[in-house]
Amino acid sequence: MKKLTRKNLDALAAVMPVLSETEQQVCMGGVLYMNSGGTILGYDGGSYDILIAESLPTDYLTNPASSGNLSEQNDEIKRAVITNIAYAKGFFQGELEDARFSFMPFPDDENTFAAVERGEIEDETGSYSGAIRINTNSSLYQASENYFDFSLTLLHEKTHLTSTLPSKSVDIEYEAMVAMLNDTMAMTYCSNEYYTATRRLYDDLFQQMLENGKVTEDDYIGHIIGREPK
Ligand SMILES: [Zn+2]
Repeated sequence: MKKLTRKNLDALAAVMPVLSETEQQVCMGGVLYMNSGGTILGYDGGSYDILIAESLPTDYLTNPASSGNLSEQNDEIKRAVITNIAYAKGFFQGELEDARFSFMPFPDDENTFAAVERGEIEDETGSYSGAIRINTNSSLYQASENYFDFSLTLLHEKTHLTSTLPSKSVDIEYEAMVAMLNDTMAMTYCSNEYYTATRRLYDDLFQQMLENGKVTEDDYIGHIIGREPK
């Protein structure tokens, strides 16, 4: 695995203008081409799934099959892709300048994609304090192809990292779900499975917040996305 160093981050910063521009273009529709370093190459119409190619196939508009799905790629490529999506979501900048990612399997857990860990971490890149742990056992890491599934999950963890609410509380989970639902572009174009799961979790947390007297019916935002859960 490529170590996340200042030099790597500078390299990421260099591709950022392209990434932001493409993230906007993506909302107009497309299969998203990224290279094995996680840099966005281009997109075409169809879906929002990530395809990996070393360069943009000249016939990519007519032959998207000439490249490989993200889920079929090795860990190094997946890590590069997730790291670049995280950059687009504001990691490694400002108050999150020192954010780190650690990719490791969570034993017997396929449902959790990532978690914020504030204690001492030790992995193959060394030991350090605090990181976003990405669960390489998770169904999202293993099988998702959708750019916005990853983008929303990283937004969720980013919201936790910058929150002042008590960790593991209903309130802090609700806060992260609200941030996701307010990312209307991502909520519109994420996969059906991801959308449905996110809406269910939001609705469940909203009910708990309602019972705790922390929100009123007027605070409900489940309907702001023009899309219904399956
Ligand atoms: Zn959470």
